[in-house]
Amino acid sequence: MIKRKGRRKPNPKLIMAGDPILETVCSDVKPGDDIAHIIKDMMYLLVNSKNGVGIAAPQAGYSKRIIIIREDIGGFLTLINPTIESLSEKEIIYEEGCLSYPKIFKEISRPKSIILEWVNIQLVGKGCLFEGREARIIQHELDHLDGKCKMRMDI
Ligand SMILES: [Zn+2]
Repeated sequence: MIKRKGRRKPNPKLIMAGDPILETVCSDVKPGDDIAHIIKDMMYLLVNSKNGVGIAAPQAGYSKRIIIIREDIGGFLTLINPTIESLSEKEIIYEEGCLSYPKIFKEISRPKSIILEWVNIQLVGKGCLFEGREARIIQHELDHLDGKCKMRMDI
């Protein structure tokens, strides 16, 4: 019989509707915070999700301002402490779903484009204009960081 030393860390679990962490305002990532394991858990959940296009840290159980999105060009983009600097006046209505609120789909109007600022994993400041699909995913995930996913029935 092979004895395993210690216990292997269980796979991360997606936080589902009703958990108070999904209704909590997340705190900023600060220099020195150990976020590598948070990003690893988020990536695991996103990659293993069905049709997932983005994830916010509270969906992995961490109340921190981190989101990861699937980019249009393929690959993933990690956004730490993201803040919207400006929004387009033009809004677009589109149907959204959420990994934490399965089977709920809502038509939601959101600005078509956003200018976003964030820091990367090395905590270097970045900024970029996002449009269309990416802008929508980012805005959806930003709602999670404020505990206000629009899939919630009570808001
Ligand atoms: Zn969501």
